[in-house]
Amino acid sequence: MINYIERLSLLMSDIVARVPTLGFIDMSKVLVFARSGRTNAEGAYATCHCICLPASEPGYYFWRDRKTGKLTRRSEWFVTKSPEVKVGTAPIDYMISFTLPRFTDQVLSRTRKHAHYPNQPNWVGKLDTIVHELYHIDPQTPGIRRMEKADGTYSANCHGDTFFTNVVEMVQQYLATNPSPETYDFLQHNFEELETRFGGICGTTFRGYPSYPQRYTEVVSPQPEPPADVDCRIEPLKVPRVMKHFNEDDLVMREFLRNTSRQLIRKGAYRAA
Ligand SMILES: [Zn+2]
Repeated sequence: MINYIERLSLLMSDIVARVPTLGFIDMSKVLVFARSGRTNAEGAYATCHCICLPASEPGYYFWRDRKTGKLTRRSEWFVTKSPEVKVGTAPIDYMISFTLPRFTDQVLSRTRKHAHYPNQPNWVGKLDTIVHELYHIDPQTPGIRRMEKADGTYSANCHGDTFFTNVVEMVQQYLATNPSPETYDFLQHNFEELETRFGGICGTTFRGYPSYPQRYTEVVSPQPEPPADVDCRIEPLKVPRVMKHFNEDDLVMREFLRNTSRQLIRKGAYRAA
């Protein structure tokens, strides 16, 4: 069986070693994992998740009287926090997830990427997706890279005017360094071909699949004083219980089939790329 996520990790390590713009990325702090996604369903091929953002400033929800505008009640103070994910002793700063099997079936001719890669084979579209997600990692501050617009201000979304063309340039740059085909040739096969060739495809997921570490809300304890002019009823905040700390024991190996997936009995050790 092909460990697709491990292959992607190794390929990403090769990309960051060969593409100067991505050279700052430390792949030992990037965890790659699989999510579910069917080939014919709508949705992303991959996602970059930042889990190194600091906790938010404390805040609260409030309700106003529609007529008087007066505050009638507010929630307890809360903050939002990033989960802690560690593999061995290394804290993970970013996670990049790939949807399987959807990602393996990405076809260049059916996407807007086609115009950027005339006469190039389908698997280059997958390489584009991989570089795209790596490019979301911000080189300066913890977070998702912010894109400047032509006028020097920051774009309201994380893609801006030039993100996609910068990615195309980096893909061409990578290919121009003559990487070893062994590093990327698994991208050439769609899901059916992978199944035939390798007898199945598997990859790292979190034990609580389909859930995975996400930012969560926490009630501040002890509660700070309310702002000086706020005097109203305080409602307790109901926050769902979620896991806040993850380590390599929370990673398991799953096999991905056409319409479903199953956890493999032997626990798959996560290997740092
Ligand atoms: Zn994006």
